[in-house]
Amino acid sequence: MTRDMAYINDNFLKLQAGYLFPEIGRRVAAFAAANPDKAPNIIRCGIGDVTEPLPQAAIDAMHQAVEDQAKRETFHGYGPEQGYAWLREAIANVSYKARGVNVEPDEIYVSDGAKCDTGNILDIFGHNNVIAVPDPVYPVYVDTNVMNGNTGAAREDGSYEGLVYLPCTPENGFVPGVPTGHVDIAYLCFPNNPTGAVATYDQLKAWVDYALAHDTILLYDGAYEAFVTEEGIPTSIFAIPGARQCAIEFRSFSKQGGFTGTRCGYIVIPKELMGKDTQGNKVPVSQLWNRRHSTKFNGASYIVQRGAAALFTPEGQAQCKALIDGYLTNAKLLCEACQAAGLRVWGGSNAPYVWVQTPNGMSSWDFFDKMLHEALVVITPGAGFGAHGEGFFRISAFNSRANVEEVCRRIKALLS
Ligand SMILES: *Cc1c(COP(=O)(O)O)cnc(C)c1O
Repeated sequence: MTRDMAYINDNFLKLQAGYLFPEIGRRVAAFAAANPDKAPNIIRCGIGDVTEPLPQAAIDAMHQAVEDQAKRETFHGYGPEQGYAWLREAIANVSYKARGVNVEPDEIYVSDGAKCDTGNILDIFGHNNVIAVPDPVYPVYVDTNVMNGNTGAAREDGSYEGLVYLPCTPENGFVPGVPTGHVDIAYLCFPNNPTGAVATYDQLKAWVDYALAHDTILLYDGAYEAFVTEEGIPTSIFAIPGARQCAIEFRSFSKQGGFTGTRCGYIVIPKELMGKDTQGNKVPVSQLWNRRHSTKFNGASYIVQRGAAALFTPEGQAQCKALIDGYLTNAKLLCEACQAAGLRVWGGSNAPYVWVQTPNGMSSWDFFDKMLHEALVVITPGAGFGAHGEGFFRISAFNSRANVEEVCRRIKALLS
């Protein structure tokens, strides 16, 4: 009898083996194992994970929600897949309408985080789209397109055939201009991970105007919108006229409220947004997402949604702001330390990331090893975010103040 195994999705085999964060973890573990005396002094500024506890308002609301689950009268089983109305209304009112942006509660779909949403969104698009991604970029956008069969093979520098890369460089301030040709879908992320760049109103307007002229859909990742402190920098793509016809926005409570381990996010799809079927008929994108979301997802946890909703109360808002101000002060200290060490620095003022050019043209992985071995500090090599990240590194401001001050001392000591 011949054995006949099930076929796998070959697209997964195109993925580059050393995904960034596992490779960082491997190098740190190997160094720590070889240097047990130094291991306790390693400070991790590599992965973009928050470090400070949840805002008290969210803690109190989640405690109360656990009590609700303890009694028949207040027990909650399956909730609406799209999220509870009280959370969607709080998001629409506080995050959008209070800032003059029109988003309705029924255009908001609550989930267990923006990473899943940015990957899952590809379910509702065809495979024949021309897709643009910034470079460097949050690796999820590229890898999920590879898994979905939207790319060709990997090239030597880690890029993939078939994607349109938008270089982000010191020359354009790490804000890519619109493509010269036609693209069907374009990813944008501001404030940016990894570069910390923000886009001005005019820069976003150029993207929306391009999208309207080309029938492009913008996938706008606003995971870091709460870090924008500068007057006049848009916190939502929907602040730009016409964006409701051409954009989807991804948001998360992970960075805004310290929810990386608690898990809650959402996506906004305006009712006006259309795609077309293979016959050329217009179809509302929200209709497809609603169908996908309610078929493959059973709603975020009631307890967690209660915690998320508490972030929109006046106390919750003040506590989130204090949390974010703390991280932004960290970012400022890291920027100053790198500048004092003679490095070229970007980001770090409306974002929790500082983006730095490596000294003397070192490769980003060589500088990663130098920082790990000689300063016991874990950074993120820029090359892990795309070919144009080579020659740069990212430092995360998500850390305690004491650790950040120590990292600043070590950077200055290492490079002066
Ligand atoms: C952290 C982050 C997210 C949020 O992910 P969650 O799954 O909500 O924790 C989304 N996009 C970017 C660019 C991020 O850095």
